[in-house]
Amino acid sequence: MQLEERGGVLVLRFTSLLRFPQLEHFFVTRRTPYDVRTESGREAIARLFGTGPIFVPSQVHGADFLVFEEKLWYNASCRMVDALLAGKKNQYLGILVADCVPLLLFAPEQEVVALVHAGWRGIAQGIHIRVVEAMERLFSVSPSAIWAGVGPAIGPCCFEVGEDVLGALGRERKAFFERRAGRTFVDLKGIVVEDLLARGLLRERLEVSSLCTFCERDLLCSFRRDRSAARCLLVAGMRG
Ligand SMILES: [Zn+2]
Repeated sequence: MQLEERGGVLVLRFTSLLRFPQLEHFFVTRRTPYDVRTESGREAIARLFGTGPIFVPSQVHGADFLVFEEKLWYNASCRMVDALLAGKKNQYLGILVADCVPLLLFAPEQEVVALVHAGWRGIAQGIHIRVVEAMERLFSVSPSAIWAGVGPAIGPCCFEVGEDVLGALGRERKAFFERRAGRTFVDLKGIVVEDLLARGLLRERLEVSSLCTFCERDLLCSFRRDRSAARCLLVAGMRG
């Protein structure tokens, strides 16, 4: 990813996705004068980056998603989801994160974009794989044609977990559990990458941020570190 500044807002972008001029995307770090949790904050961000309104769901650490396409519209009862797909232009998607994995999936040929909020609960329920399968089923996207960006999340350096998390993720994920001084740490980004590759995505179309939200105090939001409601925002959409 690369860091850019616009109007006092520091954002990260996936370098590998900049080759697609029709795709707008950016990750708003904590270095912003606008509160991305609020509608007004997101309106300011949208004005600054020249996007339309940014739709953010009520994230619930589940495995459901919402699809936007030409003839589809949403109502308020559909808002409790952790992933969004758009198969139409000028539909801007957003997800809020502070330690969980923000995932962007893009199929350039079919022009489908998706965002996933993947914490350990969502990963245990396979939300990231459900979204890949939805792209395949609803938009005829081959997984090998998907470009993916795995954004900043809490790293195995800092994500200490207990038996509940280990149990939910399952023993087959043991390669991503690290034991240090009697404590266990988990590599969530590693699990997401491994699952995506197993589902048919190509490593050369996958970019993974090396940043840990907990370590990067000045740049990123971490719930574990700060116990605060502050969030970063990943935005994506296709320009019309
Ligand atoms: Zn860390």
